[in-house]
Amino acid sequence: MNTSDRTLKLYNSLTGKKDVFQPLHEGHAGMYVCGPTVYYDVHLGNCRTFVSFDIIYRYLNALGYQVRYVRNITDVGHLTDDGEDRMAKGARVAQLEPMEVAQKYTVGFHDMMRIFNTLPPSIEPRATGHIPEQIEMVQDILSRGYGYERNGSVYFNVRKFDRENPGIYGQLSGRVLDELMAESRDNLKSQDEKNDPADFAIWMKARPGDIMVWKSPWSVGFPGWHLECSAMSTKYLGQTFDIHGGGNDLKFPHHENEIAQNQGACGCAPARYWLHTNMLLLNGKKMSKSDGNTITPVELFTGDSPFVSKGYSPMVVKFFMLMAHYRSTLDITDEALAAAEKGYRKLMETNRILQSLRPADQPYDGSESAADRAILDGIDTAFSGMDDDFNTAIALASLSELGSFVHKIANKQLDAGEVSPWVLERLKTVFNAFIVDILALQDELDAAGDTGTVEGLMQLILDIRANARTQKDWGTSDKIRDGLAAVGISVKDGKEGTSWTKG
Ligand code: AMP
Ligand code: ZN
Repeated sequence: MNTSDRTLKLYNSLTGKKDVFQPLHEGHAGMYVCGPTVYYDVHLGNCRTFVSFDIIYRYLNALGYQVRYVRNITDVGHLTDDGEDRMAKGARVAQLEPMEVAQKYTVGFHDMMRIFNTLPPSIEPRATGHIPEQIEMVQDILSRGYGYERNGSVYFNVRKFDRENPGIYGQLSGRVLDELMAESRDNLKSQDEKNDPADFAIWMKARPGDIMVWKSPWSVGFPGWHLECSAMSTKYLGQTFDIHGGGNDLKFPHHENEIAQNQGACGCAPARYWLHTNMLLLNGKKMSKSDGNTITPVELFTGDSPFVSKGYSPMVVKFFMLMAHYRSTLDITDEALAAAEKGYRKLMETNRILQSLRPADQPYDGSESAADRAILDGIDTAFSGMDDDFNTAIALASLSELGSFVHKIANKQLDAGEVSPWVLERLKTVFNAFIVDILALQDELDAAGDTGTVEGLMQLILDIRANARTQKDWGTSDKIRDGLAAVGISVKDGKEGTSWTKG
């Protein structure tokens, strides 16, 4: 596709509405997404956010943009509520070097991203690999008068910034400074050093026992958490770039502070479009490790959890995530996963049948039939859903509706001649584009090797038998059933369709 072919709208948290995407540089898109803090196994909520941005990345690519996608690894500076660095705490608990902890969970994160069939970002910078850039940004903020030093730590002066740049701080989270201040629990231990409780640390002097420390002009210490994203997005995407993303729990303080830092350092706004994913819930409540309302990806895949009746494969879980728009909350329940499993299998089966359909033998007479028009409309709805703030729920619903044409053609309820060969070809291309390139759902029957082949062949045989039965061709239908029985496979016809068992 050409980038000018379609109008893409994104919901911009900064403006509070859907804005038409107009990149800074024609044909290019720069996107920064806050990556994981690698001190613990990645949880399903993180996976939802990164799967959502992978789809956004893939759709921008599909539209023809040359995308630079930067997703960082936070391996320093993200403190717990009691002020200890998360990485250092992880290392202390496990008696490891902080970098061993970072390495272990970065590898685990990458494995999980591969399991969900997401693409690696174009650049994956680590916070610890960009300390000089962060120190430089603190210097820029100081030289423009928006920071002050106290006992070797440096703080961002939020009040002064707000006075001189009204309307910026708080715009993203839609609240006023005093409300935000009341919420700010950042750097509790250093409250007494700050001019104002709203200020936040951009460089922190090390305390005795801190192990992740670097030399700086102010002290031996470490950067504030928010600083890494400001410095690394600037380095790889420029002072102003197109899209910044993350989960909506990061709007405040992380993203508000990022914007303030960038504005404070260069007097220019960082991202033009801010995209936020919504949270993943479990049985209606926020998934949280501390109150036990949590399930890991592996527990979900194996079914080893009281929250599910059985295991659900990674592609079923991904399909389940895509059934909701990224800005809606998504509630994991056993019933919803079971429904997603059905939906996923049906879509894969439909695509297998579609790709094996041959156009009708008769020459194409050039006219557009009612079926052609309905199929082309359905295709347009699927793309329009994606153009409308990446609405995968609409795209999947449209693919499912288009699937009914596929089944009608395969079952001869719709004469193949009624669908023009080019429309059939377009449908095949569009299904592949969505399934393989945009939504990136792998067909597990293909991925399962030998068992997959048997499953696939059985599905094919049962499809042929189902077609024979709809045409009342009992001879063929019985021949298939008896032939399978002769090799020890019994076929059972039920309300839910036909199933088979061996032995
Ligand atoms: P963290 O590792 O905590 O820094 O989070 C990495 C990313 O996952 C951030 O963009 C978070 O906003 C996002 N995230 C954290 N918890 C959830 C959740 N329950 N649902 C969706 N996204 C989440
Ligand atoms: Zn960030």
